[in-house]
Amino acid sequence: MPEKTLLNHSRPPIFCPGCSHDQVLRSLDKAFLNLGLAGHQICMVSDIGCSGFFDVFFNTHAMHGVHGRALTYAAGIKLCQPELNVVVTMGDGGLGIGAAHVIAACRRNLDLTLLVLNNYNFGMTGGQYSATTPNEAVVGSGFLNKLDKPLDLPALAAAAGAPFVCRCSTYQKDLTETLERAITYKGFSVVEIHGICPGRFTKRNKITPQSIAQDLAAKEQVCGEVAANQRQEYGLAYGREAAAQPALPRPLGIEPLCQAPQQTRQEVVILGAAGQRIITAGEVLALAGLAAGLHASQKNEYNVTVLRGPSISDLILSPEPIAYNGAQRPSVVIALSHEGVERRRGGFAGLGPEVLILQAPGVELPPSAGRVLAMDFKGMGIKAADWALASLAVLARQNQVLNQQMLVAALEARFQDKTLAAVKETLARVAS
Ligand code: SF4
Repeated sequence: MPEKTLLNHSRPPIFCPGCSHDQVLRSLDKAFLNLGLAGHQICMVSDIGCSGFFDVFFNTHAMHGVHGRALTYAAGIKLCQPELNVVVTMGDGGLGIGAAHVIAACRRNLDLTLLVLNNYNFGMTGGQYSATTPNEAVVGSGFLNKLDKPLDLPALAAAAGAPFVCRCSTYQKDLTETLERAITYKGFSVVEIHGICPGRFTKRNKITPQSIAQDLAAKEQVCGEVAANQRQEYGLAYGREAAAQPALPRPLGIEPLCQAPQQTRQEVVILGAAGQRIITAGEVLALAGLAAGLHASQKNEYNVTVLRGPSISDLILSPEPIAYNGAQRPSVVIALSHEGVERRRGGFAGLGPEVLILQAPGVELPPSAGRVLAMDFKGMGIKAADWALASLAVLARQNQVLNQQMLVAALEARFQDKTLAAVKETLARVAS
């Protein structure tokens, strides 16, 4: 036996007396039942505001998010679960705040149903003017609504490419059938439902179901498919295009070929500056860890600038899975620039004598108990841009964190041809 309602008995709908949202809610419930839909076949996605309660008032899947962004969540849900009937409820407040997302959804034509419950004001927050408030209305936010032209949602949606658009009243007899048509339409359907907010709007403005009907009768009648916008639904079109693409190459794989010098979790922090190839060195170290069959993570931190500003990479190599990828107890700190060291200055005081600190030329270190190894990279004829990679060669020479076999495997995975040869030649200067 089909259920007689999908409304939530444990959270009965409650709006201000006479609120049009209640009637829309019950029409939507009827539409679902008439279509034979069960709760598990529906996902209600609600925006913020009084219409934002629709998701809790139904026994369906549900999502409630940030103001104006409901369509973005709905799109993700529909793409992941295309069998769901995804219905989005939004007020005229959310319409104004998230209009860019409405336009994007119209252009995209994903199979969603958008119900905009238009009661001409922000009801929940005190009756401020919204994107659809008429110029002549009296609202709680002063005169500003007299200056902005109210948004014509059906015209906007049709112009933006929505293939099904409807402007209707909460009080018209065929609202349930209209909602059924919108829900069953295979593509993006937009239904603007005009209604009354007695809690706020009608305290200052005279508006009745009859006046709404007259007002809508004076506007362009729109309810149904927009002939010029008919096309394949986005999810289907996406599947078709994706299937026609060449197969993606397999991700880079590294077969474990040796053992790491230490069989315990090792954390390395590379403190450098933009232009020193810190991130690249971090990648090489992570690849070296993979070559030894370890789990590896890399967490990078850098400014938006190029050639100046700190650049930092936290590396973790571990025989155990890595949960958080920030270094917390480093075994090695590589200090290659003043900027990088300054950014992590506070961490030096906690370094114990077991921590190896590689110190590049000209870099001053904050006080710590770490074991400092000053590197004469300049004497080796190595440019600052290669100090990070050269530091890995130093560690490999010392069999700390990585060994020579791991380093070579990582370099060969990361670089090719002339670049590989040049990097190997540079690092050979460290070995000599
Ligand atoms: S404030 Fe307006 S929209 Fe909100 S519940 Fe009350 S009448 Fe309905």
